[in-house]
Amino acid sequence: MADGCARRSDDARCVMTKVMRAWVVFEPRLITQSPLVLVERPVPIPARGEVLVRVRACGVCRTDLHLAEGDLPPRHASVVPGHEVVGEVVQVGDGASRFRAGDRVGIAWLRHTCGACRWCRSGRENLCPESRYTGWDCDGGYAEFAVVPESFAYRMPTSFSDEQAAPLLCAGIIGYRSLLRAQLPPGGQLGVYGFGASAHLTAQVAIALGAEVHVLTRGQQARELALQLGVAWVGGPFDSAPVPMDAAIIFAPAGELVPLALESLGPGGTLALAGIHLSNIPALDYRRHLFGERSVRSVTSNTRRDGEEFLMLAQRLSLQVTTTTVPFEHADLALRDLAAGRVRGAAVLTLTS
Ligand SMILES: [Zn+2]
Ligand SMILES: [Zn+2]
Repeated sequence: MADGCARRSDDARCVMTKVMRAWVVFEPRLITQSPLVLVERPVPIPARGEVLVRVRACGVCRTDLHLAEGDLPPRHASVVPGHEVVGEVVQVGDGASRFRAGDRVGIAWLRHTCGACRWCRSGRENLCPESRYTGWDCDGGYAEFAVVPESFAYRMPTSFSDEQAAPLLCAGIIGYRSLLRAQLPPGGQLGVYGFGASAHLTAQVAIALGAEVHVLTRGQQARELALQLGVAWVGGPFDSAPVPMDAAIIFAPAGELVPLALESLGPGGTLALAGIHLSNIPALDYRRHLFGERSVRSVTSNTRRDGEEFLMLAQRLSLQVTTTTVPFEHADLALRDLAAGRVRGAAVLTLTS
């Protein structure tokens, strides 16, 4: 379909189709009040240019939590979250020729751009005003099946299992874009605020590129994982970094970290904000937080090129993907654990067919 979304087929067709289980957000509310509901739905039918994927694993991203709690208002009623989907193509829509039944593919956050606007034409399709997103505009992977336009699907690197590959699709790709946006110089000092799914992959890429990485996070488990992965220093989120940073990335959705991270930067340093949602940023003091040509940059989605580059890099660097697997039936509990900071690495829903 033109907007990149395969809507549910009409009632007559639904009766004919098979049924699947899917988690939906009917009405956003606090995760402790169970905004996710497991329902039965018709298996979607791939529209022109789309493929139907049997989901084998789906990563649990903080954006799913923002959607369930309403920090990110759902774009349509009873949307299925999930945009780190690894599965097998089971049906190919009309006009789709890139994949065949049986191919392993990944479905990520970005799923439609116009291809014609000035951002699309200048290699910045992530900023396209017509962009559409999996698990927000269109149904995602907290379901047994999902559809995706084939031009936005990824071939997944073979060295990763389904569970390991899933977090690469958002945590990995967005983290990689954040690293690019942070303009870390070769061999530079990088500060990382928060150490969840995205940060634990991004830190490995930065270290492989010669950076010294300093992690500021509250969780003891997260700090231990960071040290295991070879970071130079760990501390609490409100600690002072041990040396002036050339670049920093805030992965935690906490605006109060922005002044602290800016203060940790040396002259000319850059702070990248990786999240789609951030709580309010306190007032900044020009001399204390910005003077010395320090800058703050946001990160908005990613281009397909970022995705392809990162997936190749992930394979080449043999990134260690730390996952906490959760059965599909417990997706709501996975989001609760994420909200409570109880997940080590990346939470991934697993489906057995
Ligand atoms: Zn566009
Ligand atoms: Zn995500």
